[in-house]
Amino acid sequence: MASRRDFLHQGLRLTALGLVAVPLAQAEAARAGRDQVDAPGTTELEPPPDLFDAQVVDIDFWVKPRTLSLIRPQSGERTSVLYWKDGEVIDAAYQELCHLLRDVNGKASIAIDPKLLETLWASQAFVARYGLDRPLEILSGYRTPASNNRLIEQGVPAARQSLHMSGKAADVRIAGLTEEVLGGLVKSFRQGGVGFYYRSGPKGGWIHTDTGLNRTWKG
Ligand SMILES: [Zn+2]
Repeated sequence: MASRRDFLHQGLRLTALGLVAVPLAQAEAARAGRDQVDAPGTTELEPPPDLFDAQVVDIDFWVKPRTLSLIRPQSGERTSVLYWKDGEVIDAAYQELCHLLRDVNGKASIAIDPKLLETLWASQAFVARYGLDRPLEILSGYRTPASNNRLIEQGVPAARQSLHMSGKAADVRIAGLTEEVLGGLVKSFRQGGVGFYYRSGPKGGWIHTDTGLNRTWKG
């Protein structure tokens, strides 16, 4: 049983990571308004059904060692790496994740926002508690401005000021989870923007997650 002092210490650490800084994030959002746009021509959604609600997880969830299992369908790469332990990011593992989340077309990488890794890990770890132990598919991570422009020219949903270009966004899916369920879960972490990209077909759509302002859209 953790002492009260330990608990407070953990709380401070979590605050430093931005995990429990929700009121601050909301204040920022209110101040900045909606001028930070990553979703051209999209609409605000009602909250999805509460199939998962990350706000109910216990503090133990957040302090356990974190392993991220990712696959990159575009390049066929996969990795499963312990990247965070005892409140610290493990540098070699972090570098490996930055490489996996690179711009595969533009052959360039960037320092990925650790907060984004936290959201990816939390989503995966949360559904694993329900027996869905599957890698997270990274459809898009970092994008060079040239790659982002190419997507816009091709008519693929991409914003001119996309947070993908600063290593703060990823497009993801988990096999077996609908966009509604995965997006609802990511949204419940309240760690940034969530875009729901519903698509028909065998693989379905995807979820955009970023560490910008808390907001939701359908693309
Ligand atoms: Zn995206």
